[in-house]
Amino acid sequence: MRELQLTDAAAGIADVFEDVEALSAQCRFKDCQHETEPGCAILAAIDDGSLDPARLARWRKLQAEDAFNSASLAERRGKDRAFGKLVRSAMKAKSDRIR
Ligand SMILES: [Zn+2]
Repeated sequence: MRELQLTDAAAGIADVFEDVEALSAQCRFKDCQHETEPGCAILAAIDDGSLDPARLARWRKLQAEDAFNSASLAERRGKDRAFGKLVRSAMKAKSDRIR
């Protein structure tokens, strides 16, 4: 359920900021942060005035929030796995005692 919402959020960002997303796909580096990288299509677009820097700032903010949400989801999944392991080892300890 929550995963679906997160996917929707990411899709929403891509939808509203289609132009920014399209530009970022043209950056020379796949992991471009659009800060000072050479060959950055987003910085070039801001330079020639075709992209509003305020729009980029909003996009960055949404991207950061999306990344944060995804990170906390992954973290929670990790905790669930750790808990499952704990339960299994506790159950094993119990059955060891019975034997
Ligand atoms: Zn870039």
